[in-house]
Amino acid sequence: MSAETPLSATPRTRLGRHRERGRTDRADLLAVLDAGMICHLGIVQDGAPVVLPTAYGRVGDTLYLHGSSANRTLLAAAGQQVCVTVTHLDGLVCARAVFSHSVNYRCAVIFGTARLVTGDDELLTALRAVTEQLIPGRWDAARAPVRKELAATAAIAVPLTEASVKIRSGPPVDEPPDLDLDGWAGVVPAAVRFAEPVPDPALAPGTSVPAHIRDLVRRGA
Ligand SMILES: Cc1cc2nc3c(=O)[nH]c(=O)nc-3n(C[C@H](O)[C@H](O)[C@H](O)COP(=O)(O)OP(=O)(O)OC[C@H]3O[C@@H](n4cnc5c(N)ncnc54)[C@H](O)[C@@H]3O)c2cc1C
Repeated sequence: MSAETPLSATPRTRLGRHRERGRTDRADLLAVLDAGMICHLGIVQDGAPVVLPTAYGRVGDTLYLHGSSANRTLLAAAGQQVCVTVTHLDGLVCARAVFSHSVNYRCAVIFGTARLVTGDDELLTALRAVTEQLIPGRWDAARAPVRKELAATAAIAVPLTEASVKIRSGPPVDEPPDLDLDGWAGVVPAAVRFAEPVPDPALAPGTSVPAHIRDLVRRGA
């Protein structure tokens, strides 16, 4: 599917509230996913909903989530309808009225049937995608997984075919009578930042911080 293919509008992805905040460009979906690191995986397990945070990676139109081969939620998700969300908090929106406070965000919601990844080739693809999503350049810098580690790892694939994107940006929206009230209103921007890397005490003295880690710290600075 190309980035130009519009997002599906299905009964469950059609925004009810604030439809003007919805995006139908697939490119917007990919941008929200590619800028994130953590998703929330929602499944129904033993008749009750469970939502857990987890890392993810994207390859084309597939989202990969990984975990231990003993991970109950991942295994339960395989073959099931799941809902995955990725959220970026971009700012706190302070209005004059408490009622009109809001948050600026970019958010994607994906529905689909999760497929258990089988076979080492696709498992390696999934692990690489998750690793690179968190720390671009890390896959080549670290030792590759060995057979025993692959056996201890599970991954699911979720197709990016049914998804919605909702984005709020900009200043608060107070009702006209409230605009004359005293007091501050505006947006407090928010962003994820990485700080100075802390070397492992077991590191050989003089080992320098590699470029891909420096890049991570610089990103968004
Ligand atoms: C960080 C953050 C904080 C929020 N805080 C609040 C809050 O405190 N109160 C509140 O009412 N709302 C909040 N929202 C918005 C909330 O996510 C819903 O969009 C909103 O509550 C409408 O819910 P609904 O059940 O009417 O959804 P509907 O619009 O009926 O949902 C229908 C479909 O639209 C899509 N959709 C809905 N919401 C989103 C979304 N956020 N991102 C992508 N697709 C979406 C989904 O596919 C969903 O199945 C917040 C959103 C974010 C990202």
